[in-house]
Amino acid sequence: MAVSVVWFRRDLRVHDHPGLARAVEAGDHVAPLFIVDERLLDGRWPSPNRLWFMRGSLHHLAEELALRGAPLTVLRGDPHSIVPEFAASVGATRVIVSRDYAPYGRRRDAEVDARLGAHGITFEAAPGGLMVEPESVATAAGTPYRIYGPFRKRWLAVTWRTVLPAPSAIRPVRFHQVRAATPRVRSRIDDVLEPITPTADPRALPEPGEPAARRRLDQWASGRTFDRYAQDRDRLDLQATSRLGADLRWGLLSPTEVAERCHGEGDGPRRFLDELAWRDFYAYLLWHEPRVARHSFRASFEHVARSSDPALVAAWTAGRTGYPVIDAAMRQLRATGWMPNRARMLVASFLSKDLGIDWRVGEAHFMTHLIDGDPASNNGGWQWAASTGTDAQPWFRVFDPTAQGRRHDPDGTYVRTWVPELRGVAGAAVHEPPPGTYPRRIVDHADARAAALAAYRAARDRSR
Ligand code: FAD
Repeated sequence: MAVSVVWFRRDLRVHDHPGLARAVEAGDHVAPLFIVDERLLDGRWPSPNRLWFMRGSLHHLAEELALRGAPLTVLRGDPHSIVPEFAASVGATRVIVSRDYAPYGRRRDAEVDARLGAHGITFEAAPGGLMVEPESVATAAGTPYRIYGPFRKRWLAVTWRTVLPAPSAIRPVRFHQVRAATPRVRSRIDDVLEPITPTADPRALPEPGEPAARRRLDQWASGRTFDRYAQDRDRLDLQATSRLGADLRWGLLSPTEVAERCHGEGDGPRRFLDELAWRDFYAYLLWHEPRVARHSFRASFEHVARSSDPALVAAWTAGRTGYPVIDAAMRQLRATGWMPNRARMLVASFLSKDLGIDWRVGEAHFMTHLIDGDPASNNGGWQWAASTGTDAQPWFRVFDPTAQGRRHDPDGTYVRTWVPELRGVAGAAVHEPPPGTYPRRIVDHADARAAALAAYRAARDRSR
């Protein structure tokens, strides 16, 4: 009797799960495992919003697995030691995971692989987290792409793997064996992870779990908004995007299935696929250049920040900069754990260029609050906006928050939703509130822009 441990991490689903399907198709007895890694709770970027979502999603995963016959074991602690102990205790011949592409996950997996080897157990990393594996896209010279355009072209030429159905039944490992083998740890989610209070309003957060994610996908793929995605995705006042970020972040949906369901002719589907390509691109970059997790891709801009004034950072995080569209976005983030892509671009440009603060400060704040916070996409987005990344916004381009507000929130609805002090100001005038009706701007955009350009120019010239 072959036994496989399927160790779930960022793939909390049963549909289109290549690793799970591999174990089931082989006829193995399957011991599904999740580990509450202490690093999730007190590592680099703990986030009550994401933990709340993860915890809820784990309940659903446990239900889906139990329905199919194989209960989920949830343990808490250090995966480096728990995985080999658990695998040995259930008599596993292999541990299967969905591949992790980020630096910590890669180091952890390499170490777990080595420790399993000492027990004669194999470690298998299956695809499923990205649409295209990082090794499958390379230049003619065999080197990784640095620019999105050519990456995308090559990426589009790779055939997607086939979307897999959820297994109808999973052969379990006899459960008393599992419990007996791990007497010091309990195996129910509620026992190992206390309820989490999100920092955002739970009513504003997406419902956790694979079934809810699948409903969201159905709704998005069949809805009319999708057809207008290309035209409307930058509009701050409309709900014009899929809001599937958290579902992809925790793997409640596979990107391949999302792409398959949203495939089609027309600008909407095409543009949507481009965004999934950006998601793969940033994971690809982090895979090939793990140093970008902590450093600017462009070394010349590593020290381009010109301020670390805590008062400026505090005004930005609280949404009290005096620029209504920036303040609206920052308050939306706090209240809901989410903000639209255009708003992310604007507030990131404002922090790194207008305020001259290091992009890593903003990256960390986003990771604390974003329900879809993802090390690769967030890092890529920040480095893009701060012009420190590969294929980033050119350094001499600085968003004007007032003009951007007028363009992407033409009637001022977005600002009035999140900045109640301005509800009495009608129309687009809300982007330039009359003197005395709103806090003073913490910087003057024209002056700040000039200072940013001088700093970037000097940094560039120093590196020549
Ligand atoms: P949709 O527009 O419906 O897009 C569908 C999916 O495509 C998204 O859910 C996401 O998985 C992917 N996607 C879309 N745009 C991008 C992009 N520019 N880069 C990478 N993937 C993309 N995205 C994250 O998933 N996690 C993050 O932590 C994150 N941080 C960001 C930080 C900054 C400064 C910026 C500028 C962008 C960031 N993004 C991040 C990208 C993008 O803003 C979000 O993916 C998007 O707003 C999520 O909303 P949605 O699901 O409605 O997106």
